[in-house]
Amino acid sequence: MAYKLWLGNLILISVVISVANSQRQNSETTSDQEAQEIQVRGRVICLAEEMHKLYDADLSTNHEHLYGFKTKNGVFYTLLRTNMSEALFVDKRLHEKELIIKGRTFPQTQILEAISLYSVHDGTIHELYYYCVTCAIRAFAPEDCECCQEPVELTETPIELKPLQN
Ligand SMILES: [Zn+2]
Ligand SMILES: [Zn+2]
Repeated sequence: MAYKLWLGNLILISVVISVANSQRQNSETTSDQEAQEIQVRGRVICLAEEMHKLYDADLSTNHEHLYGFKTKNGVFYTLLRTNMSEALFVDKRLHEKELIIKGRTFPQTQILEAISLYSVHDGTIHELYYYCVTCAIRAFAPEDCECCQEPVELTETPIELKPLQN
């Protein structure tokens, strides 16, 4: 009986391994066409102003800010405006913070789709989100709570964030 169980586990393990192997092969052959997960650290900046500063790109006096992300290594990304990244566009408080963005980039682009936001201060990483204390509901952006219609609060909770494994 114990032997049978052991054999069953062995088969299960080898199935898991072969599935993992085939997935790895798939990702190698198609990585050029797939979105890549990334984690970047830096700040929200206005791309129009940065390009003006760096390369004297034309900048109209009343320009509409074109928000992007500048990493600590000086790499620029254009931010995709989505439900999850809305806060980066509308909450000026986030423009003052050092941030970590977890998200995706797309083939042949420097477009960043932010999926999770974190702030870095006092040597600690904080998960960043909006919260209604009354309803205990989280929100992506500084809007009115979907339940009680009161404004949600910007909330930063210290967490341990592991680097991406690739
Ligand atoms: Zn600007
Ligand atoms: Zn509420």
